[in-house]
Formats: sequence, C-alpha cells, structure tokens
Amino acid sequence: MSQPFEPPKTGLFETLWNAQSGQCALCGEPMPASRFAVAHASVWKKQRPTFDHIIPRAAGGPDTPANLQLAHAHCNKRKGKSQAGSVGRDRT
Ligand SMILES: [Zn+2]
Repeated sequence: MSQPFEPPKTGLFETLWNAQSGQCALCGEPMPASRFAVAHASVWKKQRPTFDHIIPRAAGGPDTPANLQLAHAHCNKRKGKSQAGSVGRDRT
C-alpha cells in the first residue's frame, strides 16, 4: 500500500464523496456539493465538505485515502475540539 504520489485531490474527493453518498461522516447529514448548492457563502463556509482524518494526524494518522473521510467544515472543527479532551461518539 505504498503510494509514491499523492492522489489528485479532486479524484480522492470524488471517491470519498461517492462512497459516502455526499453525506457527512460525522453527523450523517448531506453536504452541499458546491458553493452554488447553498444560498450564501457563510452557509458554504460552515457546511462545505472537508477532508477529515479518521485517525488524527496528531495521533500519527497518515494522509492516505483509507484514513480520510469527508465531513462538514463545522463538524470537522467540532470533532477536533472534542478529541483534544475526551473521546466522542464519532468512531464509525
Ligand atoms: Zn456534519
């Protein structure tokens, strides 16, 4: 499973997007596919899909597709916070 090249971001995004049916890995709600799927830039900022490390990079998690999932920007942020303290309910 060695990867000499980082996979193209767009291809990886699509792979994860399709695997998750466009749903957030953390809260299960659908994510907007593009800025134009939402009414306002501020909504996009909170709800846009972001790459989330299943095993956090801080804990030695790699930057590989197997360790990445897509989550709302705000869910990703919230998870980062909760992991600093206690373990949440986000093991899937
Ligand atoms: Zn979410």
